[in-house]
Amino acid sequence: MSERVVIIGGGIAGLAAAHELADRPGLTVTVLESSERLGGKLHTEPFGDLALDTGPDAFLARRPEAITLCRELGIDGELVSPNHGTAHLWSRGRLRRLPAGLMLGIPTDFIAVARSGILSIGGLLRAAVEPLLPGGTLQGDVALGALVRRRLGDEVHERLVDPLVGGINAGDTDQLGIRSVAPQLADLAASHRSLVIGSRRHRPPKAAPGQPLPPVFLTHPAGLGRIVEALDDRLTRAGVELRLASPVIGLARAHEGQGFSVETHRGVEHADRVIVATPAPVTARLLASIAPDAAGFFESIEHASVVLVALSYARGDFPEPLDGSGFLVPRGEGFLTTACSWVSSKWAHVEAGAPNRVLLRISAGRVGDERAMALDDAGLVARLASELGQLMNLTATPIETRVTRWPEAFPQFAPGHLDRVRAMKVVIGESIPGLALAGAALGGVGIPACIQSGRQAAAGLAALGNP
Ligand SMILES: Cc1cc2nc3c(=O)[nH]c(=O)nc-3n(C[C@H](O)[C@H](O)[C@H](O)COP(=O)(O)OP(=O)(O)OC[C@H]3O[C@@H](n4cnc5c(N)ncnc54)[C@H](O)[C@@H]3O)c2cc1C
Repeated sequence: MSERVVIIGGGIAGLAAAHELADRPGLTVTVLESSERLGGKLHTEPFGDLALDTGPDAFLARRPEAITLCRELGIDGELVSPNHGTAHLWSRGRLRRLPAGLMLGIPTDFIAVARSGILSIGGLLRAAVEPLLPGGTLQGDVALGALVRRRLGDEVHERLVDPLVGGINAGDTDQLGIRSVAPQLADLAASHRSLVIGSRRHRPPKAAPGQPLPPVFLTHPAGLGRIVEALDDRLTRAGVELRLASPVIGLARAHEGQGFSVETHRGVEHADRVIVATPAPVTARLLASIAPDAAGFFESIEHASVVLVALSYARGDFPEPLDGSGFLVPRGEGFLTTACSWVSSKWAHVEAGAPNRVLLRISAGRVGDERAMALDDAGLVARLASELGQLMNLTATPIETRVTRWPEAFPQFAPGHLDRVRAMKVVIGESIPGLALAGAALGGVGIPACIQSGRQAAAGLAALGNP
């Protein structure tokens, strides 16, 4: 007899879980998704002549999970990498090009950092003595900010590491655990006393003559929603039931521990095995009665809200082509803007698709900064457009704008988070066999990490014997 697996949440983690299970014999798989569409934060919509990603717009190519998934879906050959590896940073009153040789903001080439003008002379000298400072290697997990401030000084932390790593997480790296948000740096710090020397040793190799560098980021020219479409097709063909507009409102163990009762507005249905792949606040509510400790853990995770604003301009408004992929703004500079992607110059397919337009994507909001969320759309667009005047001398009026709000979208990982996740998974595995958890709040917000968490949860459930 076949067993029924219900996956709650049709974001990339839940869909990756369904993909992992779809061809396993003896299982029937249902995905219950609360909204009218699959993909969760992966979403592409038309914007003028362009396909606009209103959430993530690329994934890290140095981890294998997203590329592997695209290969299995037959779309890996369509992926593209950005035109520019270089970005700018607002520092000391103007945009400055980020220097070469940064490892998540840790300098490896101090001459390049000096030329960039991002640090003051004092900040530069403080950072340059780092290889000489005493100290041990990293044990366990600590706040990224504490480690970087101690080793390289406040300026490297506030002007390089926090804008880069905090920016990706909409977080504050004085509060974020290094093992969750910068695992490569954590590994370096565990094996080298000096972050600078460790980073130098582990710099990605230079490209061989005539060979392009392997891409750091990839996307799909039709938008990342194309991955969701491909998953939808593949899962539908494999007989997975994908049920939209079906919020799960309750989860309980069935009588005598035989599986689970999953409650939606249409009634209660039975599942032999369940994967909960919802955002942490929802996961906390769903686990409240069957796993109160795990529910408490998910509830305790702080979240940051972000607003993404797309603005399209006439090409003629830009006398010079934008030279780079965009810019970052450190916290504490007074701007709502945290990052601005120069989409048309970053991606060749965007430039080719709308040669008469220039598309910018601004992110605003991070943990502890709700100013962007508090403004209405018109007020927010006006404020961000005026910030562009200051940040990049852009005074033209956008032709079209689109505001997308992502409340409570970015989980914030305190030091020790990954250990707590591991411990929670062991307890759940022992006490509630047949239940597995997935999603951004477990192993990281990046798309590859979410895919990994979904596939791992699914493989773990599939490996169980009969419940
Ligand atoms: C603006 C923005 C930019 C980003 N940029 C990048 C980037 O460039 N690169 C990158 O790698 N990552 C990026 N991220 C992070 C990444 O997009 C997310 O971490 C990831 O998509 C989360 O996937 P998930 O499946 O865990 O959660 P989600 O995508 O949130 O999916 C959860 C799903 O569960 C559904 N759900 C909720 N409640 C219920 C319920 N009761 N019953 C059933 N279903 C329910 C939701 O509707 C949703 O579809 C970005 C995120 C945002 C918001």
